[in-house]
Amino acid sequence: MGAETKKRIYFFKPGEADGRTEMRELLGGKGANLAEMSNVGLPVPSGFTITTETCRDFYTSGKQWPEGLEEELDENIAKLEETTGRKLGDRDDPLLVSVRSGGAVSMPGMMDTVLNLGLNEESVQGLTKRSGDERFAWDCYRRFIQMFGNVAMFIPNRNFEVVLTAQREKAGVQYDGQLGAEQFKEIVQEFKKIYKENTDEEFPADPKEQLRRAISAVFGSWNNPQAIRYREIHEIKGLLGTAVNIQTMVFGNMGHSSFTGVGFTRNPATGENKLYGEYLVNAQGEDVVAGIRTPKNVDEMPEERLAEFTDPQLSPDDARKLYSEMYDRLTDIKRTLEEHYTDVQDFEFTAQEGELYMLQTRTGKRTALAAICIAVELVQDGLIDKKTAVMRVEPNQIEQLLHKQFDEDAKAKAEVEGKQLATGLPASPGAAVGKIALTADNAEAMAAAETEKAAQTGEAAASIILVREETSPEDIGGMDAAVGILTARGGMTSHAAVVARGMGKCCVAGCGAVHLDEANKKVTIATKQFSEGDVISLDGATGQVFEGSIAMREAEMVGAFGTLMEWAEEYRKIGVWANADTPADAQQGLDFGAEGIGLCRTEHMFFEEDRIAYVRQMMLTAPDVREIERRLSDAEIRKSQTAGKDRAEIEKQIEAIKGELAEKRKLFDGALTELLPEQRKDFEGIFRVMDGLPVVIRLLDPPLHEFLPHDANIQARLAQRMGTSAEAVATRVSQLRELNPMLGHRGCRLGITYPDIYKMQVQAIMEAAVNCKKEGVDVRPEIMIPLVGAAEELRICRDAAEQVCQEVLSKAGVEMDYKIGTMIEVPRASLTADEVAQYADFFSFGTNDLTQMAFGFSRDDVGVFVPEYVEREILEHDPFQVLDQAGVGQLVAMAVEKGRKTKPDLKIGICGEHGGEPRSVEFCHRVGMDYVSCSPFRVPIARLAAAQAGIKDELAAS
Ligand code: PEP
Ligand code: MG
Repeated sequence: MGAETKKRIYFFKPGEADGRTEMRELLGGKGANLAEMSNVGLPVPSGFTITTETCRDFYTSGKQWPEGLEEELDENIAKLEETTGRKLGDRDDPLLVSVRSGGAVSMPGMMDTVLNLGLNEESVQGLTKRSGDERFAWDCYRRFIQMFGNVAMFIPNRNFEVVLTAQREKAGVQYDGQLGAEQFKEIVQEFKKIYKENTDEEFPADPKEQLRRAISAVFGSWNNPQAIRYREIHEIKGLLGTAVNIQTMVFGNMGHSSFTGVGFTRNPATGENKLYGEYLVNAQGEDVVAGIRTPKNVDEMPEERLAEFTDPQLSPDDARKLYSEMYDRLTDIKRTLEEHYTDVQDFEFTAQEGELYMLQTRTGKRTALAAICIAVELVQDGLIDKKTAVMRVEPNQIEQLLHKQFDEDAKAKAEVEGKQLATGLPASPGAAVGKIALTADNAEAMAAAETEKAAQTGEAAASIILVREETSPEDIGGMDAAVGILTARGGMTSHAAVVARGMGKCCVAGCGAVHLDEANKKVTIATKQFSEGDVISLDGATGQVFEGSIAMREAEMVGAFGTLMEWAEEYRKIGVWANADTPADAQQGLDFGAEGIGLCRTEHMFFEEDRIAYVRQMMLTAPDVREIERRLSDAEIRKSQTAGKDRAEIEKQIEAIKGELAEKRKLFDGALTELLPEQRKDFEGIFRVMDGLPVVIRLLDPPLHEFLPHDANIQARLAQRMGTSAEAVATRVSQLRELNPMLGHRGCRLGITYPDIYKMQVQAIMEAAVNCKKEGVDVRPEIMIPLVGAAEELRICRDAAEQVCQEVLSKAGVEMDYKIGTMIEVPRASLTADEVAQYADFFSFGTNDLTQMAFGFSRDDVGVFVPEYVEREILEHDPFQVLDQAGVGQLVAMAVEKGRKTKPDLKIGICGEHGGEPRSVEFCHRVGMDYVSCSPFRVPIARLAAAQAGIKDELAAS
């Protein structure tokens, strides 16, 4: 189609419009909805919309008006004059218009608007006649000159403000609204002077010329620096430009039967099905924004008596009648909008002298609670189907409903009062208020003291917030005692973040503004110093850190939430399991709908107070046992190759080595023997909770040094217990230190070099399974080998585990199905997944490590640079939060394909943190995984995201 045949302008008037809501691309969001509301018969002031395509053509033709626009504009002005019965520039009853921008995607406040266009020395007389209010007319005129001067000619607003200030001072009043007609007349003349000084021309009196320039200015505002930046930040791409909406002005400030306001068709905070909104009598939209007067709730409308005004034209009784009618009218509009758009609308209205008009409508933003209630009720009202309802709720939003929250007003107040100290990573949602503790031990001690104090005083115990540089497994007790955790370092998969999410506890991680001075028991957050015991508040959903205490409210679980989740189940194809290390976590996962445990990290069980000493004893003696066993085997070989006197000598050596080994073994095996029943008890607890469901238990993964004591006192106590010197313990601790522990002696590498540890764990798992089975529990154990990079590693670990399983089962005389599988978390395992699959009954993607190793980013150190990467758009997201589908995703997809080539029925899941992130869940669904597994508190999110992925598939297929 040639340029000359393009339709550039779409007209609308009540009951009839050229455009429709679907034409958003071409007419912008505002233009498309003005057209749609007109079609529906809602009272929209007549006008027309210049297309976004015209804006694009304006730019491609070197900021010239494209051919045909001028003529179409003339035609549409004529049509508008005919429709309204008014003429631009008329000295009796002039047509005045607003000129507003509006792209296909809303960019609030980024582009320009001109109101009251069409005023000049003649038409201002007309406006005076029509309104019977000279002051009003001249106020409109001066507003127009200022807006036009600023928007079309770039005259700084402050030039105009100076004049207004001087007039206010002269008149001795505080607000512009208190100035009179004569003052506004003077202001108009001064504004015109300013205009001339800045532009070297007179203020244009011809309304068509005003309109032409205002349209060009709005086109120009599409590419103003803030609009460009806004599009960059919000990744708004591929749009043609802005539309320009030219619409008959209606005035909410034409006396006491005029008003302006905003409304929601339902309460956006609670979802309550009731008109919700605010309005101001005798005011323009900008008065609401300026906050000079406080708007009233629309609920008050029917009782409006305008008591504070004295208006001879409107008696209190007339006012009540008028406003009751207006309220009923708005209620009707609410119903029409919802029935038409089948969703909650956020709209703007203005009444001019008792005549109500709609100026805008769009889909209303809402809280999680409201989103759920509204979606469910719209189904019950027959406006949408269940599928649409499930798609309407943003999965990440529902996390808000599962944890304690700050009271919104209290938090807003704290922000306004400058109580926010810093922002870190939003590592685990929920809100927390508590006293600062700087070490895990102190956190435990302070929590205990607070509980005791509370018991004595009968008051509620104060809570504790653990503030650390970063946390380590040793801090687990302190983390448990605290209600919230704040760390200076570490990313979204750092220890603090993972453990806190698992516990469903609020955590802000990697907050660079936190500087600890443990020696002096002080912490500086941004510029303020705090001592232990001082109170701070954390918002784990936003990463905000506040000083002092902010009021909280309980998590709200409403009936609609359950209903929506029930509907979601109909569409979900992929399973949702939970990562849980304790029976309590497992129960939480189950309560939220988990269908199995996808990851039980056994090392977390090692840190309990009464076990850690045995774990340390085992760790410290393990290298000795290994070394002595090697020497023994060397000696045996030498013996077999030697005869005579030398052989007798070797035999003597062998005896000595055996003695040494027995001694170390006593300590090593002794520790394992102590740990075995404890682990067995843990597993029994989890199996009982998960009766009938699979439980994936991962064998020991972290590097040994993480368990070792660095404190001299603890080292001394350990030495005493092991019958050795403190120096020997200290030496061993430092020998075990690794330069890159994440890439060091961990996972199956430990299982291969110290097979007894894995054997003990497998024995504990299987004995627990046998015991539970004997109790009648339906047990489904799955043993998982971590950090496999080569098939041979898995073969060795699998053979060893299989042997123990068989021994336990045959000794107990019990038959049981069990599985042995592996994590895919080393890139090499993905690349060779066909080989690895030979020895695996299942794969579970450890995307935390897989991301770490694919990017070469240390997962515990990313807090320092990844936020900047995201800010500068080097990366789209923090890859530890949102699975990097382009890179890491390829490793996942490849492993799924290769694994299933070897074993078509291979069961495949994910247990990295991404298993609870909606976009990543959709990816897992797409590549054909059987399940995702995530922290218990994310299970509902994953379920909803999985359902949405299923629905998208259905929609694509239909
Ligand atoms: C992983 O690497 O994704 C994983 C689940 O294991 P961990 O976080 O314990 O290393
Ligand atoms: Mg891992």
